[in-house]
Amino acid sequence: MLRSIKGLKDILPQQTPQWRYMETIAHTLATQSGFSEIRIPIFEFTELYARSIGGATDIVEKEMYTFPDRDGSSLTLRPEGTAGVVRAVLEHHLLESPSTRKLYYLGPMFRHERPQAGRYRQFHQFGVEAFGTEDPLMDVEVIALLWRFFCSLGLKDLTLHINSIGNPQDREKYIQELKRFLSTKLEVICGNCQRRYSTNPLRILDCKVPICQQATQEAPTLFDHLSLESATHFQSVLDELTSIGIPFTLNYRLVRGLDYYSRTTFEITSPHLGAQSTIGAGGRYDGLVELLQGPSTPAIGFAVGLERVALLLPEQVSSPQPPLFFVAGFGKKAKPIAFKLLHELREAGIRADTDYKSTNLKSLLRSADKLGASYSIILGDDEAHSQTVIIRNMTTKTQELMKLEEISQKIKSLN
Ligand code: ATP
Ligand code: MG
Repeated sequence: MLRSIKGLKDILPQQTPQWRYMETIAHTLATQSGFSEIRIPIFEFTELYARSIGGATDIVEKEMYTFPDRDGSSLTLRPEGTAGVVRAVLEHHLLESPSTRKLYYLGPMFRHERPQAGRYRQFHQFGVEAFGTEDPLMDVEVIALLWRFFCSLGLKDLTLHINSIGNPQDREKYIQELKRFLSTKLEVICGNCQRRYSTNPLRILDCKVPICQQATQEAPTLFDHLSLESATHFQSVLDELTSIGIPFTLNYRLVRGLDYYSRTTFEITSPHLGAQSTIGAGGRYDGLVELLQGPSTPAIGFAVGLERVALLLPEQVSSPQPPLFFVAGFGKKAKPIAFKLLHELREAGIRADTDYKSTNLKSLLRSADKLGASYSIILGDDEAHSQTVIIRNMTTKTQELMKLEEISQKIKSLN
């Protein structure tokens, strides 16, 4: 039997209501806060991701789906949304307005990771990006939108972790000191981190391996190395979060895995997901637009992993709506008349269904029950002959005879 690719998941009919629910809330809340939707391609030139995300990150080092196009150019399935959004806003001159540009997106991302609960090779994100201001209020606006998204979905026990990783100059000084500290721990940390020591030492703080977490317990914090400007900016973010009542936990170990982040970084975790506990994350990326050859433009955004959110939603968000009418037509003469009625019901905007596999009344009514229809319209050859139909109330099981002409008129009048 043909099977799907490892790490990819079908979203089955019983799950799609949950997905629509998440998507509807995402569209509603983002729009409410003045974000406009952008839809970008799911693959781009590899160079875009390599340049923006950073060569020494997990994503670029080992997680990208990269393949040559027929002309030899290197393409990559998008592993995240921000790089593509920045490429698009530059290409279409969307930053050339005096006000801030606020965009959001929904869609699949692709990373070649080890598949496990909450970690897939194709997964979906809802993300927002706000360009054009470094005002700490924008940081708070973005975090508040993320928080509101989860609260609207009814998620409980969430923690907002927040940190500032400063600007590149702050980081440069800190990294020297961190390396001095880590040089005494090189023997104990994991192989991955030994490599990171020279390529991307900040990531060692973020390593999930217990020995590495222990080894870095006493490490100096970036937080203590922030310039006055970064520290003041961060304090304003915290003050405003407090004033609007969003609870947060300062987490000095929170460094994001992508190179383009600066200053405010944040993650929201749930205790109900096991190892893959982060359901949304984001931060400032004040240098990225310029890095991609745009005008110097501060920016901040987040991305939510919708599969992980779905794992936290109650199973039955809302079941698919059952039909109001089930049309039970059987017999050679009756079936085409019944089909016409079914068509008229749908044209009139009424939820209606039938079952072509059932050929006698008993099995038709069983199907009607299974679908949860409120009424059945019964039409056999006898009824076709007398131009009548039987309306059966599926709950009370009472039946009423009606003229075909009459029901047809009634449906049309609803149109
Ligand atoms: P993680 O530490 O879990 O690998 P990340 O830092 O790589 O996450 P981001 O790039 O910040 O993740 O993506 C934002 C969100 O997208 C994550 O918080 C998570 O909810 C979700 N996400 C990331 N990778 C996957 C994946 N492979 N499968 C499902 N969801 C994912
Ligand atoms: Mg990852």
